[in-house]
Amino acid sequence: MNGVLYLVATPIGNLSDISQRALEVLKMSDFVAAEDTRHTLKLLNHFHIKKPLVSYYEHNKIQRGEYILSRILNGETCALVTDAGTPAISDPGEDLVRQCGDAGITVIPIPGPCAFVQALIVSGLPTGRFSFEGFLSVTKNSRKEHLESIAKLPHTIILYEAPHKLIATLKDLLRVLGDRKIAVVRELTKIHEQVLRTTVSEALSYFEQTPPKGEFVLVIEGYCPKDSETAPSISQEMILEKANALIAAGMSKKDAAKETAAFFNLPKNSVYKLLHS
Ligand code: SAM
Repeated sequence: MNGVLYLVATPIGNLSDISQRALEVLKMSDFVAAEDTRHTLKLLNHFHIKKPLVSYYEHNKIQRGEYILSRILNGETCALVTDAGTPAISDPGEDLVRQCGDAGITVIPIPGPCAFVQALIVSGLPTGRFSFEGFLSVTKNSRKEHLESIAKLPHTIILYEAPHKLIATLKDLLRVLGDRKIAVVRELTKIHEQVLRTTVSEALSYFEQTPPKGEFVLVIEGYCPKDSETAPSISQEMILEKANALIAAGMSKKDAAKETAAFFNLPKNSVYKLLHS
């Protein structure tokens, strides 16, 4: 008889968030498939669970998927976990679930933490309809295409982001989506948990002064035709206000134009011309 694949959600920071059922499934499984076995070993040790571990991550998922599948087909029960949160959400799992489904294997989700759900509910933005977009691509063209494809979505948009890419992403959001409301949600369930409910331009100013650290979810207001018809996303006033503030702080016109252009992701010349018009 076939075994079962369990998709076990694990904490995204606070270990107390593990569920009773997750612990029971980890204890009764024959083996645990984990994204990073060293990371999962620490989790299992914390809960005094001893289990054979098999690594299953993005770059070995094809061969390792076949191996895991063959063990389940031989009657073993597998618990799939990732480094944090819910498997198959911007994490490995999707392919294994498909392979198991195709082979007639039962797949059972064990609910638990998922960063984007917690970020959405704490964002203060509409939760009735939303689009979870995962990570933006780092490749220039596909990133541009992705952003353009979500620019007119009328409902809340959710992105995952790494700290070292946060500022570039906020600049891209400002340029393509405009200056919307945003909740920047950081380090959920951890000591430095923070929810910054603000606008994209203010978030950008904030993180230019406070270097981003930790894990981030961005929850962005959906497209609102009325607002965007009456107010262009980056107005001349906004550009002049920023540049004049820099000049007042002692910067030369040339440097202020350069800095402002970088801030709004605009060509340097256009800001320079505006300052001299
Ligand atoms: N499967 C996971 C889930 O259920 O949320 C997501 C895995 S994805 C590889 C990792 C990303 O999730 C991070 O870069 C960050 O954007 C987000 N994330 C994970 N833990 C977080 C936390 N404690 N606070 C904020 N964001 C978090």
